[in-house]
Amino acid sequence: MPWDDEFECMPLEKLQRFQLKKFKETLDWVYEKIPFYRKKFDEKGIKPQAVKALEDIHKLPMTIKNDLRDNYPFGLCAVPMNQVVRIHASSGTTGKPITGPYTKEDLEQWTECMARNLFSAGIRPGDMIQNAYGHGLFTGGLGFHQGAVRLGCTVVPTGSGMTERQITLLKDFGAKALFCTPSYALTIAERAEEMKVDIRSLPVSIGVFGAEPWTIGIRDEIEHRMGIKAMEAYGLTELSGPGVAFDCEAQDGLHINEDHFLAEIVDPVTLEPLPLGEKGELIFTSLQRRAMPMIRYRTKDITRFRRETCVCGRTFLKMDKIFGRSDDMLIISGVNVFPSQIEALLLDIQEVEPQYVLVVGKKGHLDHLAVKVEAKPGVIEAGEQKKAEVEKKISNHIRGMMGIGVKIELLAPKTITRSEGKAMRVIDQRPKG
Ligand SMILES: [Zn+2]
Repeated sequence: MPWDDEFECMPLEKLQRFQLKKFKETLDWVYEKIPFYRKKFDEKGIKPQAVKALEDIHKLPMTIKNDLRDNYPFGLCAVPMNQVVRIHASSGTTGKPITGPYTKEDLEQWTECMARNLFSAGIRPGDMIQNAYGHGLFTGGLGFHQGAVRLGCTVVPTGSGMTERQITLLKDFGAKALFCTPSYALTIAERAEEMKVDIRSLPVSIGVFGAEPWTIGIRDEIEHRMGIKAMEAYGLTELSGPGVAFDCEAQDGLHINEDHFLAEIVDPVTLEPLPLGEKGELIFTSLQRRAMPMIRYRTKDITRFRRETCVCGRTFLKMDKIFGRSDDMLIISGVNVFPSQIEALLLDIQEVEPQYVLVVGKKGHLDHLAVKVEAKPGVIEAGEQKKAEVEKKISNHIRGMMGIGVKIELLAPKTITRSEGKAMRVIDQRPKG
């Protein structure tokens, strides 16, 4: 049962008519209000009026993260600042941050998208939820907060960090759902084990996780260790935040909020559209945003689409769990490697914990990959021979499945810094430039 069955279960033809109407309005809006888009459209020799069908989207220019940086802070904002009611920003690990201004109407729509996301995850009015996403400029904290308030939940806004207190509150308050990044969920599960708190016996039964890519293996691990259903929320600051796409009870692909976002898959190299079902880069056009609409925004995330009848009744397009980011792709011995593939293979090995770091270096012209992974308790203590055996087992498994040689270093338990937000899984030591 969806939160908004009018839209979430809308017949495809009707949905596409709605999308086309909103798409045209958005194009007129950005052409009139944002010089950046007008210039890009003019350079391509296309006017918004020339767009007659959804397929015409392929004629439009794309937008990339650097366009947002170049126009920092508000060059892509279509409304005067007195109509902006909130501004979020992404953490700028490299270069300037990405800003996300919202009108009152934008916030309203984002809230609805998040309400759909949470309802779909099994959260109901009256449920207590513990929100352990960072509150602040990051869209995670307030995005989840406002969606839960819309549903009529009791919100416990713990923010991220202070892990022991998170566990104490889960126990004392008895929240039904936990919101945080998947890596932080693992940190909480591990700390609870150390504190001798059996998290599986607590009332918490649902987790809604997002803001970083995670494999099905990690999902299974979290579900097993916490005794919960681990559901996903996908989104990005450039498109309002979490709530762009979400899990349903099938836990088999994420439904895209298609009345708000027009989605495409393109070849990440040629940027040509790919047929339904093929894996490529995910592109989004926002259909209803006012302050900062995005036209064909390149997410760099790799996935594929499915258009199918889902057991949940929703008609929205489904996308697979994100496979990786095109930026994160490594070329090891001529093979394209995504960190998620290594993660999935590590989770096959019984003797290790789901705590790892990939170190990428360069040997001559070739990328070189070393994997540091934590052993389960008892493995290192069993001596050098056992350690070497497990390391060989892992490298053989990766070689067997992917055909690449990887250096494995087994670490003692709890030596890798635990995540309280977005995990740092890849350390890139290749020379820059
Ligand atoms: Zn579904």
